[in-house]
Formats: sequence, C-alpha cells, structure tokens
Amino acid sequence: PVILGIESSCDETSAAISIDGKIRSNIIANQTVHEKFGGVVPELASRAHQQNIIPAVEQAIREAKVHKNDIDAVAFTRGPGLLGSLLVGTSFAKAFALARHIPLIEVNHMQAHILAHFIEEPVPEFPFLCLTVSGGHTQLVLVKDYFKMELLGQTLDDAAGEAFDKTAKILGLPYPGGPLIDRYAQQGNAKAFAFPEPQIPGLNFSFSGLKTAILYFVQQKEQEDPGFLQSRLHDICASVQERIVSILLNKLRRAAEEAGVRDVAIAGGVSANSGLRNSLITLGEHLGWRVFIPRFEYCTDNAAMIAIAGHHKYRAGDFVGQDVAPLARYSV
Ligand code: ATP
Ligand code: MG
Ligand code: FE
Repeated sequence: PVILGIESSCDETSAAISIDGKIRSNIIANQTVHEKFGGVVPELASRAHQQNIIPAVEQAIREAKVHKNDIDAVAFTRGPGLLGSLLVGTSFAKAFALARHIPLIEVNHMQAHILAHFIEEPVPEFPFLCLTVSGGHTQLVLVKDYFKMELLGQTLDDAAGEAFDKTAKILGLPYPGGPLIDRYAQQGNAKAFAFPEPQIPGLNFSFSGLKTAILYFVQQKEQEDPGFLQSRLHDICASVQERIVSILLNKLRRAAEEAGVRDVAIAGGVSANSGLRNSLITLGEHLGWRVFIPRFEYCTDNAAMIAIAGHHKYRAGDFVGQDVAPLARYSV
C-alpha cells in the first residue's frame, strides 16, 4: 500500500510517503520561530504547522513520484504532544481521508519513534528493548510486537532531551542546546568534572537533580574564577554528556538483564547524540547485544516513522473513524 504519514506533535511539520513499507520521501519543515524564546511556544507552533503542512505534503508526494490518487491511506500522529499542534495534523489527515474516500490511521508518536527501527534493514527481532530518549520523554520499553509495548521505566521529572536543553540554557547556549552540547563535548575532556548520578530505584530515571547540580557548579566556579564557563565550556559539555549517557546506559543494561533480551535499540531525538551512540555500541560489544540505532534523520521528529507505523496498522486493518480526536497525553 501507499501510505501518507503526517507528523505535527511538536515543532516539526513533516510529511512522508511509504510504498509497501519502504520510505520514498520524508519532508521535514523545521520551525525557527522558537529560537529567540529559548523553547517551543505552542501558539506559534500551531500557526507554523498551519502554514507548512500543505507545502510539506505536496513536496512529499512529488518526491515520492506518486499521484494523490495512488494514496491508499493516511496515517497521522494522534499524540502525545502539544494539542494545538496535533490538531493541525489531525484535521488535515481527516479532511484528506474524507475527500479521497480512504482509510484513516491514528499513530502513537512514542510508538512511532520505536517503529522507526523498521524503516530499514537490519530490523530488531521481537521482543526487544528500546530506550526512547526525546525532548519530552525518557522511556524503557519492552517491544513485544509492532503495537504491543510494555513500559518498564520512565523519567520521574525531566526528560533526557530536557536535561540537555536545560543544561545548554545554563551554559548560555541557544535552544535547542542538545546538538550543541554534543558538538562541544567532542572537543572536551569527559573526565574533567564529576557530576552526580541520581540514586533512583528500579528502572526509572531522574534528571532534575543533575540540572540543579550543574547550575550551582557553574555559579560557584564563575564566582571564584570569572570567565571559567567560557574557558572550560568544552570540558563542561563533555562531562555533562558523559553523566547523562551513563545514567541512561546503566538503566538500559539493568533492564536488558531483567527482561533477558539481547536485541537493544535506542530511539528519539537524543539517540542522535554521538556520545550515547558510541557508548552504546561499546557496551553492546561487551555484553553481546545486537544494537540498533536509527539513522540521524529518523531519530528526531519525522513523518517517515508515522508512515511506517501506518503501514503496519494498514496491514492489520486497524483504522479509525472521522470522530477521532488528538490526545495531548497518550501512553505507549
Ligand atoms: P517527544 O518525542 O517526547 O514528544 P520531541 O518530539 O520534541 O519530544 P524529538 O524531536 O524526538 O523530541 O527530540 C528533540 C530532543 O532531542 C531535543 O531535546 C534535542 O535537544 C535533543 N537532541 C537532538 N539531537 C541531539 C544530540 N545530538 N545530542 C543531544 N540531544 C539531542
Ligand atoms: Mg522537535
Ligand atoms: Fe518526538
């Protein structure tokens, strides 16, 4: 089948076409209006989605070299995310399905981040473990089948992406700071400073204590030695990144042991982080895991993952009616 995928949960407007489970186009319109506010402004995000969605869909159809008439179903992100943003993609998808008399498929965004692993070979085998680390979520998920997922652990406060972005803000870097910390960390010494590892029982995570520790650390050092932050920026970034990665991988390792799985994946925007990718590969070699890491363009928000999720729901005949509504909160 030819599936049109639509993603609009946060600040990327994206449209993609899959044909028989292969991605033929994946158009992502990034919103730059939020940079000067240091975070996503929901009202501005909805408005930008409204402006970007038709051009993104038209480009996705053009690049895939298909015709509107060829599309067999439209899949859209129902949630979780910003309600105003989700409404734009949902309304578009409903109108498109209604006008073309084709089925409508709703997709859970956090499941889609995981299902990005089915875009390209090699694919993991069920059951596998996925650490989903994004701007709004940090989840350890046991994936039993395409849409049968069990949440083993999650963050009790900030998400991993938030930990990166809030740290970047403390360090005076622009939003979103995750990719910048990654870049500076590559030129720094990760052993320069030791930030605390929170002691959270079980498979849950916490990042707010780390954020506070970094804030106090920077304030105190800057007072003792003005200019400290600028002169040691790369070392601070490398040390913070190392700690975030070790928090994530320690829990991942424990979850894999408890679940008894050897296929281990990461997903979501933070899985683009080079420190996490490298450390995971090393750990996987050490423990005999098969490690799965998505290509960069399928880590952050994209409609290719929505189209792939839609493809598998299409095969299962899992459609929704025109009365479907988006969900700001939507469990994996
Ligand atoms: P959610 O999926 O939870 O709804 P989201 O869709 O906003 O949230 P994504 O687009 O998947 O999240 O990921 C964005 C996050 O990934 C941001 O916090 C960003 O800083 C972070 N990120 C992206 N690239 C990197 C990188 N190289 N290193 C660290 N963090 C990164
Ligand atoms: Mg985003
Ligand atoms: Fe996301």
